[in-house]
Amino acid sequence: MHNYICTTCGVQYTATEAAPAHCPICEDDRQYVNPNSQSWTTLAAMRANYHNVLREVEPGLIGIVTEPKFAIGQRPLLVQTAHGNVLWDCISYIDEATIDAVNALGGIDAIAISHPHFYDSMVEWSRAFGDAPIYLHAANREWVMRPDPAIVYWEDDTYALNDEITLVRCGGHFPGSSVLHWSQGAGGKGVILTGDTIMVVADTRYVTFMYSYPNDIPLNARAVQGIVDAIDPFAFDRVYSAWWEKVVSTDGKAAVRRSAARYIAHIR
Ligand SMILES: [Zn+2]
Ligand SMILES: [Zn+2]
Repeated sequence: MHNYICTTCGVQYTATEAAPAHCPICEDDRQYVNPNSQSWTTLAAMRANYHNVLREVEPGLIGIVTEPKFAIGQRPLLVQTAHGNVLWDCISYIDEATIDAVNALGGIDAIAISHPHFYDSMVEWSRAFGDAPIYLHAANREWVMRPDPAIVYWEDDTYALNDEITLVRCGGHFPGSSVLHWSQGAGGKGVILTGDTIMVVADTRYVTFMYSYPNDIPLNARAVQGIVDAIDPFAFDRVYSAWWEKVVSTDGKAAVRRSAARYIAHIR
């Protein structure tokens, strides 16, 4: 029995004898099936070719990425707070070197993930750090391909993980798409970690909001306004999407507001 990993989206599945016939995540219109046909790997097979790199993006915030690039290639973030460490979003690959490096930073007390494209090997990460609870929004439950007792489904619009961190459901990309607000980030001005819920664009004074990024399917005005309204009660100066370069480094809240106004003006 193997926990197969889809090589296109990076999501790991419940253990099976043979590789699954389909990847529902990739067959959904927000993703795509590998044009050369659906393919699978396992963590054991990946160990020959991959490693993870950790790099600080600001004090208390450490990016973790797999090299060479695997699947979507996102960069999760480890948030170090006075009340414990939280891993925001996840990747497929994990090995002993990664576990040692993360433990040297205080380990992981909780995992929270923005949306199904980044569920990846979340159960492996949980097991590696003492069965750390995995917080997922209940509205995305149907997209969990490896159910596990460590998963905690939160509901409603916000969920306070600790005194510094609140998960905020914004919707849009997925019904349960969420962001993480860290009040102590950016020197106490606050940051939001957005996954694909809010995407920083090439002009890093702006962000965008999409139903599908690889397939260029926009959201409607109501969904975009809903995202802005969901995070408006929170103070933040920086916006971190799921890649190294995708950062609004200052004036983040105004960037989100003006980006939404621009977007809505274009689609009306
Ligand atoms: Zn897939
Ligand atoms: Zn996505």
